[in-house]
Amino acid sequence: MQYQKLCEVYEDLEKNPSRLKKTEILSGVLKDIRREKNKEIIYLLQGTVFPDYEEKEFGISTQLTIKALAKASGLSTKDIVKKWKKIGDLGKVAEEVMKGKRQSTLFSHKLTTDKVINNLKKLPELTGKGTVERKLGLISELLTSASPLEAKYLARTLLNDLRIGVASGTLRDAIVWACLDKDDKEAYELVQGAYDKSTDFAEVFEIACKGKKALGAVTLAPGKAVKVMLAQKAESIEDGFGRVGKPAAFEFKYDGFRMMINKDPQGNIKIFTRRLDNVTKQFPDVVAYVKTHVKGKSFLIDAEAVGYDPKTKRYLPFQNVSQRIRRKYDIEKVMKELPVEINAFDIIYYNGKSLISDPFKERTKLLRKIIKREKWKLKPSEQIITSNEKEAESFYKKALEAGEEGLMIKNLSSPYKPGSRVGHMLKYKPEMQELDLVIVGAEYGTGKRAGWLSSFDLACKSGSEYLPIGKVGTGFKEKEELGISFAEMTKLLKPLITETHGKHVKVKPKIVISIIYQNIQKSPTYESGFALRFPRLTQLRPDRSPSTVATLSEVKKDYEKLHR
Ligand code: AMP
Repeated sequence: MQYQKLCEVYEDLEKNPSRLKKTEILSGVLKDIRREKNKEIIYLLQGTVFPDYEEKEFGISTQLTIKALAKASGLSTKDIVKKWKKIGDLGKVAEEVMKGKRQSTLFSHKLTTDKVINNLKKLPELTGKGTVERKLGLISELLTSASPLEAKYLARTLLNDLRIGVASGTLRDAIVWACLDKDDKEAYELVQGAYDKSTDFAEVFEIACKGKKALGAVTLAPGKAVKVMLAQKAESIEDGFGRVGKPAAFEFKYDGFRMMINKDPQGNIKIFTRRLDNVTKQFPDVVAYVKTHVKGKSFLIDAEAVGYDPKTKRYLPFQNVSQRIRRKYDIEKVMKELPVEINAFDIIYYNGKSLISDPFKERTKLLRKIIKREKWKLKPSEQIITSNEKEAESFYKKALEAGEEGLMIKNLSSPYKPGSRVGHMLKYKPEMQELDLVIVGAEYGTGKRAGWLSSFDLACKSGSEYLPIGKVGTGFKEKEELGISFAEMTKLLKPLITETHGKHVKVKPKIVISIIYQNIQKSPTYESGFALRFPRLTQLRPDRSPSTVATLSEVKKDYEKLHR
């Protein structure tokens, strides 16, 4: 397929906000894809060239895209940054600068989707010396032969921001429209079910073209990464019961990282993270525990790995053990220094059979039956099943006393939904903390926020210095009448700018704001040594002077309180 043709489809999708219209447009192009037998174009419709289960990233920064655009258009990077600040969307900038070029040069050759897929697929594979230059080469090659419209969507694809408003539900519906019967309810369920198990829309499309029977035969298979089910938030125990029903399962919410543990019928054990990275090599200890502590020929077990200090036997916050995820050398050594305990909380496949449609009640029962519990190695999550609010409250206190983050509240009769944030698994954590901080820098926004400063660098106080501790961009409004707006912030901060670097500015520490946040982590990124997690603006504090903002020692205290 000509890439230009696909870009016209993108354009059409972007212009039509209605979901039905989008489904119609998509099903049209799917029929072309079927004729051409090139299912990988579906990945391009999703803004990538890989199936979802791979979650590979191109690793292309805006800076590199700007450089490639400069190369392809003959303009300077400065000119492009200027346009970008004005327009916000680098895709539109790409379109504009290539239009300018059109009069002077003829395109060397027409781009095909194959060529685009080919070059993009190479990007994540590049590592080591010269990576940036090679990436630049691959993307410049595409941009140089691109039409203005192609350049627009190439830039957006590279930056992971296609903006055509195609959610996975729309793609699912379009597959039904293109291959099956639009009015057949069961067809939608079959396509969704096949996707949940394979996490690959191109594969699902190919199978859907063969008919309903083929779709029904798709099964979950251990050995390949599966998307995990995500949780929504509960405001209280009462709210939790209201949403998942009575009785409900309550479990400790461990502060570690997610592991999907696979064992295939040959006995091979593989571990994938929530981001679908294979981390088996980094965790030989976990592989060993799974061999000795879990009964079964094949399975897929969902679990949280929590780090602990081997000497004091105290649980450690996530960031202490996170280094193990990427570690490529001295694995045995870090394994001893930073051991992990596996807390298994779900099972979705067992001895050749998918369990995702079984109720949670059955799955958790089986899980608890096949695990040989051993503290500090592998155990099922702490759990109670109750209809009683008081009992649940005291279990919550027990979780916090044990140093856990809070509770998970689960619906006993619900299936497992890979990749969805579902209302039948809820998280319940302590209230947010509040801090006053001062703004020391900011960054210009993109898209709807172009022209405004829209992300603000926060700092706490240490002696006479202000030390950065995080960025906040939530809690502000786009329209002035709704609250504290980006326009208002920009007006306040502009006169205080001391330095400008690209889209980033430094400002005199004058503006104090109150924020709430969910957590603090130790972090080498910021000079304070800490990073706020999920900060959100609550108020502007023109009444407060920067000298009264939170001090580093107060931050430390909050950190200790949260991670006690
Ligand atoms: P959050 O990351 O705040 O959205 O909370 C959800 C995460 O809590 C899940 O993705 C798991 O990694 C983690 N978690 C910890 N303990 C449990 C548990 N018992 N059941 C389910 N998820 C858990």
